[in-house]
Amino acid sequence: MSNIFRKNPAAAAPAAEADKKPFVAPRVTVAGASNGTVLDGKVPDGDPVTAWNRRRDAYKLVGALNKRKFTVVVIGTGLAGSGVAAALGEQGYNVHSVTFHDAPRRAHSIAAQGGINASRARKVDGDSIYRFVKDTVKGGDFRAREAEAFRLAEESVRVIDHMNAIGAPFAREYGGTLATRSFGGVQVSRTYYTRGQTGQQLQLAGAQALLRQVNRGTITLHTRSEMLDLIMEDGRARGVVIRDLVTGEVKAIPAHAVVLASGGYGSVFFHSTLALNSNASAAWRAHRHGAYMAHTSMIQFHPTALPVNSKWQSKTILMSESLRNDGRIWVPKKKGDDRDPAAIPENERDYYLERKYPAFGNLCPRDIASRAATEQLEAGHGVGPLKNSVYLDFKDAINRLGKDTIKERYGNLFTMYEHATGEDPYEAPMRIAPGAHFTMGGLWTDFDQMSSIPGLFVGGEAGWAYHGANRLGANSLLSACVDGWFTLPFSVPNYLADHLNEALPADDSPSVQEALGRVNARTQALLDVKGTKGPTQFHRELGEILYRGCGVGRSKAGLIKAREEVRALRDEFWKNVSVPGVGSQVNQTLEKAGRVADFLELAELMCVDALDREESAGAHFRVEHQDEGEAKRDDEHWTFVSAWQTESPAGSAQGIAPLTFTRHVEPLTFSAVPMATRSYK
Ligand SMILES: Cc1cc2nc3c(=O)[nH]c(=O)nc-3n(C[C@H](O)[C@H](O)[C@H](O)COP(=O)(O)OP(=O)(O)OC[C@H]3O[C@@H](n4cnc5c(N)ncnc54)[C@H](O)[C@@H]3O)c2cc1C
Repeated sequence: MSNIFRKNPAAAAPAAEADKKPFVAPRVTVAGASNGTVLDGKVPDGDPVTAWNRRRDAYKLVGALNKRKFTVVVIGTGLAGSGVAAALGEQGYNVHSVTFHDAPRRAHSIAAQGGINASRARKVDGDSIYRFVKDTVKGGDFRAREAEAFRLAEESVRVIDHMNAIGAPFAREYGGTLATRSFGGVQVSRTYYTRGQTGQQLQLAGAQALLRQVNRGTITLHTRSEMLDLIMEDGRARGVVIRDLVTGEVKAIPAHAVVLASGGYGSVFFHSTLALNSNASAAWRAHRHGAYMAHTSMIQFHPTALPVNSKWQSKTILMSESLRNDGRIWVPKKKGDDRDPAAIPENERDYYLERKYPAFGNLCPRDIASRAATEQLEAGHGVGPLKNSVYLDFKDAINRLGKDTIKERYGNLFTMYEHATGEDPYEAPMRIAPGAHFTMGGLWTDFDQMSSIPGLFVGGEAGWAYHGANRLGANSLLSACVDGWFTLPFSVPNYLADHLNEALPADDSPSVQEALGRVNARTQALLDVKGTKGPTQFHRELGEILYRGCGVGRSKAGLIKAREEVRALRDEFWKNVSVPGVGSQVNQTLEKAGRVADFLELAELMCVDALDREESAGAHFRVEHQDEGEAKRDDEHWTFVSAWQTESPAGSAQGIAPLTFTRHVEPLTFSAVPMATRSYK
């Protein structure tokens, strides 16, 4: 590996100076929110390049014969969850794997299309581990931990070999070597892929590895089961409460440690690229027990989602970013131009990304591409029935490479587009628009991926790690795999080693009984409202509020208004939600209502976080902080992670009481990658 690692020697000096300044976080001025503590991310001191290796080498181990004495619950069977469950199962731990899907393979990771990054530098195009870290840290606008980006880069090399070995059929060059392609935000070719189905093939491989352990008896699989609460004992996570979505039975799974790999919460926006069932409840339930939420408002809007074409559309769909390798994005220069795109001559088209960002062009990072599209839409250049989209045009690529090559590269995506819109993208340009996608925010974890609740670990998109203020394309499948296969299987045993021979909480213990009681009370509270409006309608309205007030561009006034609207909607929800049926059998409205209730709290925290952060960084674009239309970071005051705690007054009624927020902070330092203004021009 050393041959592909090159550190920037000029980088160390300025950061060392910066380290000497005492850290002072700005005072929180948002109503109902206050300052908290300074957190220790437990990143080993010294060189960030070697931090992970040093930390892993110092981890305690659990002896071979003791592993089966420990029980670990893993929530989620996506790339992160299937990886950690299979790896712990393989080692001999007693694992419970929980998913609300009917089979592990249905986790949302299966939807990922474009690819997975790795800094293996096989293309001899200037890539290296350092280059990967630089792209990741710069792409994330210096709001992530640098040492974690090194872990991601270094383990990426192993991930590709590992996933290949367990069955992911990566695309290959003619000579047999694994093929790569480019993705947004980078100038090298480091993205491994399996046509437009990379997530699917990785997920099938991961799910098979998990099922192998089910077969061996080390994993007990709970499908169609939803985690609804944590079992807390002496301030530690000691298991979960799940509801069987078929029978309605509520039961406890006591454990020595809990891993949440429950995915992202982009679906809080209602129209998002995530599956309809994706939700925030597992993370939010943990948050309400004291697991801090970091960078909560850092949501990525994907520039190549399908536009909403009608009010009643239930979701949007992602067209993979890989399409930007060959598709050219443009809008008509004339506002409100209704002509057929083929009738608009070249000199009346604005290829605005190529014009504004000549170095990266159509491959500039997602936040920049989404913002640029939003600018065009707001200026009246949008196309399509609701004038809310821009063109992604393959005409030049088809002329240059031929239809067959384009079909080979993106055939399934083109078919999907045609099925969704009824338009043939080989003949007419695709129409795309920014859509809520990936959550850079999530539960705060330390370098060992343990949350602020001891014994509660977090992996994959449910956590905040690696991506800072903006995720680079194809870094997320990677982060889920790194967490699942190469981080948590080391850090969870390190925690367990201190708890050898500790009994599991008994079924009749106060901690288990209290957790069961909380779940039953909440279910009853939802059933008892007996209102007139279904939870989906509340969700739809919440999404509209968030897109308007806490979307691609955010203003102070817009955020204050959005927060008020969210609170009013939450109030209305608990007075008027309609949940027919009972809790003791299949009840999908009940499931949905519980998830929407959590979204309604999370959404307020998103507005608070966005209001609090008086700078623009990555996907968080505050209109008050810009420089000629580009995001303006404030490194002097905001180079830290905001990790929020949410509380409501003790004994207050379910959902209705006002929430209070405390902002804890973790200062960030950069010593290998010098802090610089992002420029893709
Ligand atoms: C359309 C699309 C395309 C993408 N393409 C790419 C790409 O090309 N490259 C890339 O790097 N990234 C991509 N991403 C992002 C990437 O796919 C995800 O970030 C990643 O797969 C998340 O994996 P995960 O294991 O964290 O969670 P998920 O795969 O979302 O799994 C979550 C799991 O948690 C379970 N769960 C959640 N809550 C509960 C609960 N309360 N109780 C029980 N179970 C629960 C679910 O059942 C599921 O098993 C894409 C995302 C989308 C939406």
